[in-house]
Amino acid sequence: MQRVAVISLHTSPLVQPGSGDSGGMNVYVRELVSSLAQAGVECVTYTRADRPGLPPEVLIEPGHRVVHIEAGPHHLPKEALCDVLDAFTDGVLAHLERDGGAHVVHANYWLSGVVAHRIKHVLDIPFVATFHTLARVKAEGGDPEPAWRDRAEAEITTCADAICVSCTEEENQFRRLYGDPEGRIEIIAPGVEHAFFAPGDRGGARAALDLPDDRPVLLFVGRIQPLKGPDVAVRALYELGRPDALLLVVGGASGSNGVREHDEIRELVDELGLHDQVRFVPPQPHHILSTYYRAADVVVVPSRSESFGLVALEAAACGIPVVASAVGGLLTLVDHGETGFLVPDRTPTHVAEAVARILDHPELAAAMSVRAAERASSYTWGFAAARLRRLYHDLTVDHLVVCT
Ligand code: UDP
Repeated sequence: MQRVAVISLHTSPLVQPGSGDSGGMNVYVRELVSSLAQAGVECVTYTRADRPGLPPEVLIEPGHRVVHIEAGPHHLPKEALCDVLDAFTDGVLAHLERDGGAHVVHANYWLSGVVAHRIKHVLDIPFVATFHTLARVKAEGGDPEPAWRDRAEAEITTCADAICVSCTEEENQFRRLYGDPEGRIEIIAPGVEHAFFAPGDRGGARAALDLPDDRPVLLFVGRIQPLKGPDVAVRALYELGRPDALLLVVGGASGSNGVREHDEIRELVDELGLHDQVRFVPPQPHHILSTYYRAADVVVVPSRSESFGLVALEAAACGIPVVASAVGGLLTLVDHGETGFLVPDRTPTHVAEAVARILDHPELAAAMSVRAAERASSYTWGFAAARLRRLYHDLTVDHLVVCT
């Protein structure tokens, strides 16, 4: 049986996504690792204990445990996590020794990559890296990251035995910004849980959320931080110029400004006189979001950069057209004119025009809905897990990449 050590240092798959540092990566680790476990891979996800009183181990389901590693003070800002990487790695290694080891170590995000890199060399096992976001991609989108993150990512890239990306866009970006990792890139497209995220009754969803039946509803879901563009969603509502339209903003504050991000969006709403048209909703349990998607006429994803964009996929799986910025994985997920619209420059006017086209043309919206759900049906966590299993197997019979 394959045994895999999954590293998710800075955020736990047990945490509610949608605010702080918890988002797509938490969903990805939780769903993908559970699918691996269901396929017979023995997985342990290692995450840092970030508050007192956490149990040392949590059994999510047979074959998938989450282990909390004590490393440094519980409450640490993300920028300080570099200082505890060695302590965290020591903790993981000690646990692995007691637990019977692992055949592969799979890191999520660059901080975990630094940890997995050391584990690879200590245990002589293959190292798989999924970055989720990359410093150079963020910098291109106007969100510069510290130079040491960039250096660390470059180092991880030279020694990782496989680098998982979610789509060809992310692969192209990677090659352009980090060079050619010579046959080590693997496209593992994330999935969506179709048991929850499927087309459903709009009226029922609106009734459940206490939303009127006869007003257009726009939906933004995600962490409230500039990278995700909640301000663009609000400004697009303003540009839409329809006092009957509502915008739901589901998610909590994230990013270096913390709660200030949320306050700024609320201030913007007031400034634009939209307080009767915007409803803020705190982060929701993942599967409950399907009701929000079903209640919407259109989902707006105006991110500055996006390695994949699970929200766009979940909306499509629920048959909801998406208006997204033309960046990263959103280019793969949104088929322009077919399942939604891609807006190249993220200007609120252009986002509003795309939204208006969907609202004003019910036949187009209905056709997009069908095509979006069809398109999303090929993305499953089971398929992603099957590809990973094969990758893990191939790596364990291959020579390890030599560190340069
Ligand atoms: N999410 C959630 N509850 C919320 C808000 C978001 O479960 O209240 C989930 C959402 O369903 C999606 C993930 O968080 O699966 C966000 O992933 P995405 O790739 O869109 O953005 P990221 O957070 O990775 O930047």
